[in-house]
Amino acid sequence: MEKQNKIVQWFKKYGTYATAAVLVVAIAGVILVTGLSANVQKVNTSAKNPVVSVGTIPLTFSMPMANAQLLKDYSSEELFFSKTLGRWEFHDGIDLVSSDMKVFAVADGEVVDVENSSLYGTTITIKHTDGLSSVYGSLNSTVLVKEGDKVKAGTELGAADSTATNEAADGKHLHFAMIENNKKIDPANYLEFESK
Ligand SMILES: [Zn+2]
Repeated sequence: MEKQNKIVQWFKKYGTYATAAVLVVAIAGVILVTGLSANVQKVNTSAKNPVVSVGTIPLTFSMPMANAQLLKDYSSEELFFSKTLGRWEFHDGIDLVSSDMKVFAVADGEVVDVENSSLYGTTITIKHTDGLSSVYGSLNSTVLVKEGDKVKAGTELGAADSTATNEAADGKHLHFAMIENNKKIDPANYLEFESK
């Protein structure tokens, strides 16, 4: 009984403060959660179609595959073990897979090269600006564009396969690379990829 009385007394004394404190915490929580979800929304929208000004030309980027999943990330610092070559290597692009394996141009540009590379198999290179190109490797031989073609972001280029001889053990996938000022860069600088 005495214990209960103490609790009742405590509430008489501090009840108002306690209720106020609970309310403040609750309101702060709501503000925080609303703020966070607004932030997440923003990241998602911009990741889908980020507009990046490259030099003076504004480019809108889209993904090279629909609902792409990341198989192997770009890495210029951390070594990956290559199942095909049996040694540790850097990875100058990113490897992607999707359910239909269709490959699309990531931004407007011109097809400047379609070749059968000894390392990356059937490979298409698209020049977007003077300093920026995208490279699509390990494609099957049925290429839907040719040198000189103008493409838009989202133009279908062909389908991913396992023609990259140096990555054959990884199975069918797209080896996607980007070249900025003659250097292979991390495509994540322009596109946002989700981990598998
Ligand atoms: Zn690769």
